[in-house]
Amino acid sequence: MSEKMKNYIEEAEQALLHTYNRYQIVLDRGEGVYLYDIDGNKYLDFVSGIAVFALGYNYKDYNDALKEQIDKILHTSNYYYNVPAIEAAKKIKKASGMDRVFFTNSGAEAVEGALKAARKYAFLKDGKTDHEIIAMNHSFHGRTFGALSVTGNPHYREAFEPMIGNIKFADFNDFESVLSCVTDKTCAIIMETVQGEGGIYPATEEFLTKVRALCDEKDILLILDEIQCGMGRTGSMFAWQKFGVKPDIMTTAKALGCGVPVGAFLMTEKVGANSLVAGDHGTTYGGNPLACAAVNKVLDLFNNDNIIENVNKVAPYLEKRLDELKDRYDFIVDRRGAGFMQGLVFNRPVADVINMALEKGLILINAGSEIIRFVPSLVITKENVDEMIDILDSCLGKI
Ligand SMILES: *Cc1c(COP(=O)(O)O)cnc(C)c1O
Repeated sequence: MSEKMKNYIEEAEQALLHTYNRYQIVLDRGEGVYLYDIDGNKYLDFVSGIAVFALGYNYKDYNDALKEQIDKILHTSNYYYNVPAIEAAKKIKKASGMDRVFFTNSGAEAVEGALKAARKYAFLKDGKTDHEIIAMNHSFHGRTFGALSVTGNPHYREAFEPMIGNIKFADFNDFESVLSCVTDKTCAIIMETVQGEGGIYPATEEFLTKVRALCDEKDILLILDEIQCGMGRTGSMFAWQKFGVKPDIMTTAKALGCGVPVGAFLMTEKVGANSLVAGDHGTTYGGNPLACAAVNKVLDLFNNDNIIENVNKVAPYLEKRLDELKDRYDFIVDRRGAGFMQGLVFNRPVADVINMALEKGLILINAGSEIIRFVPSLVITKENVDEMIDILDSCLGKI
């Protein structure tokens, strides 16, 4: 490592609040599926900013669209209309089949809005303020108080208690467990369609279908968090679209802006017409013209450049190559996931493997201490998969 890089890391550790144990590289620029640090070292990136850069880095059309918007106007207040937000809203409605959208600045904020909409919907039905929400063990929904309250990892919540209250946790993919949490106060059930941070667990079709039917029967709102698994990552625009179920409210973020901070919560007309009204919710930056110019361009490119087709073409190959590693190394016990959201499950911590890979020019990330997570950009090729497997294989061989 150069003196320059070492100095930057020291300065970072003196100035930034230490809420991350960061990898020892200072990144400088990206090109396609490769990243470069400030010393000029090149890395194959299978993290993509944690499922953010769906298009890969330095995508010219996308950059041009943002530059054009910067020269026009970056921000207006949400008290006025702006064309990028109107266009983005129409496009995300079309892509999701949902009816109403509220743009946010992050995933956690999208979850906050979804929870508020659900509580308001229940409040308008019976005027009560003791409604309950069912969330899943091992879920992750973000770090703000509402989102943290439904995050099924006690370790993340403990020091910050009390949470928002009236949250019950059920086991994911266990319908009986959900059923046992339901009371006449239940207003919503929230889950990720594919659990990300909690260990890359896809929901089963049976589970989702049963939960949907339960929600229909009791007028409970189903909230699907698609912040990580959505935007094409599992081979359809949103992961639930493959299951023949539809949420009442859904959240998206991460790849929605492909690098510009933006998220959204969307709802059906039923919820839209019976929940949040003027004065109930707001944000200064949410859905500003720059963010929405990004959303517009991302959704256009998904259509025009066959991004999701590439996921469906290359993901089976990624799965096959990962399965080969699983078969070859007995400390790898499972491979699971969907599309370009894959986890390789070890029976030991993976931190040393990830650090070794980084030294060899491959960027990987964990999901929990014993799972390597693969969430690359959606434009990777089979050759990129081979390149990744070669490097990872050489690291595993040293264990
Ligand atoms: C990342 C993530 C969030 C939080 O999004 P932020 O933009 O980090 O606030 C919420 N839910 C899921 C499923 C996520 O993966």
